[in-house]
Amino acid sequence: NSDYKNKKVLVLGLAKSGVSAAKLLHRLGALVTVNDKQKFDDNKDAQALLDEGVTVITGSHPVELLDEGFSLMVKNPGIPYSNPMVVRAQQLGIPVITEPELAYSVSDSTWVGVTGSNGKTTTTTLIGLMLNERETAGHAYDAGNIGIPVTGVVQKAGAQDTVVCELSSFMLVGIQKLHPHIAVLTNIYEAHLDWHGSRENYVKAKMRITMNQTKDDFFIMNWDLPEMHELAKQSPATVVPFSRKGATGARATLTAGWLCFDGEQLMKADEMQIPGDHNIENALAAIAAAKLSGTPNAAIVDVLHRFTGVKHRIQYVETVAGRKVYNDSKATNVEASTVALNAFKQPIVLLAGGLDRHLPMDDLLPLIKQHVRAMVTFGETAPLMEALAKQAGIPFTRTDNVKTAVPIAFAASQPGDVILLSPAAASWDQYPNFEVRGDEFIDAVTQYAEKKG
Ligand code: ADP
Repeated sequence: NSDYKNKKVLVLGLAKSGVSAAKLLHRLGALVTVNDKQKFDDNKDAQALLDEGVTVITGSHPVELLDEGFSLMVKNPGIPYSNPMVVRAQQLGIPVITEPELAYSVSDSTWVGVTGSNGKTTTTTLIGLMLNERETAGHAYDAGNIGIPVTGVVQKAGAQDTVVCELSSFMLVGIQKLHPHIAVLTNIYEAHLDWHGSRENYVKAKMRITMNQTKDDFFIMNWDLPEMHELAKQSPATVVPFSRKGATGARATLTAGWLCFDGEQLMKADEMQIPGDHNIENALAAIAAAKLSGTPNAAIVDVLHRFTGVKHRIQYVETVAGRKVYNDSKATNVEASTVALNAFKQPIVLLAGGLDRHLPMDDLLPLIKQHVRAMVTFGETAPLMEALAKQAGIPFTRTDNVKTAVPIAFAASQPGDVILLSPAAASWDQYPNFEVRGDEFIDAVTQYAEKKG
């Protein structure tokens, strides 16, 4: 692709995707400058870029730099349009795009794009797994907001391959021509309204996923949300609705407990390892994408049988002594733990606690009353969680950390119960991040299971 040869391009934001974009542009012969306001003293990625001959400027935003004839800016999705560098670029008429747009411009693969307020990573992962079960020469690559820079993926993905790209609304604001053959909009709930300014802008950003599609493309939408019926009219693509609640016109449906596509039964929803109504919706969206991509039913069913969830997000760990164990360490706030508590019909022994952000926890109370048998608490918010347990009239035990919580949870539970780590708080009071917290939980469960053996 010669479009970028000798073009001056500014990459704004030295995160993983910025580094990847800079590398790709450099390889394509562009004259690349990377800028980040933060100063990096010991950054291997920055050093590697410097060694390759990329200009790296950190510690400030030198706005005057943009007067040197740049023809493109690739902006990190998290950087707002009010950033002085972005403002100047737009004044000068320099196109400002995000990394997926750059990747798309050099890609000859088929694209599947997934956006929505919730369920993006789960749905993206499911689609990738399903497409890879097809007996075709090509491979499906997960990419994008899922944590894999798509500019890296497009360098290995060829014409036979598929790029399954999770697209945040921040990324979508910065696309121009990106045109997924299959687009998925999982749902729209209130989120990120601060960044986008209003709900209207947030919805507009999401709808950009379909704007470049044609009648030959597909737009998979959640028909249980009335708003989608109106939004569908704006899409130039063939709309493929899914519905968990029996909405008329839906093609991927939950009907009498079965996951169906175009009226054909694939499998019973309760045979999936990933729990909850929200995961039925994610599965329906993925089924639609897989069917439209020519995936055989048996392959789709196989993936849905074996998929245990995205790591740390209501991830099924194992069944020990009749208790199903789930790791939801990613639940760093009340909203996320609400979804988790709602996902189970069985009694739950809940492991919760973590960093105290001085936010109200009261929304958890009705769910605790309804679903939780006992609680094991730790971290800064332990007293707050215990106050809820007292109000709900359920027993609780305070302990040091996630590891020591595991045997206590087993002792407090009965066969048939769910043991759930869903802390409703960030991990930083005790752990470097939620991944370490979740891994400690999984290790402790494995050890407990071996001892019980
Ligand atoms: P995203 O990538 O959009 O953040 P994930 O698939 O990583 O979504 O799921 C993150 C959390 O969002 C889950 O643990 C669950 O609490 C919630 N969630 C997932 N899918 C849905 C859905 N379809 N509807 C509502 N909430 C969901």
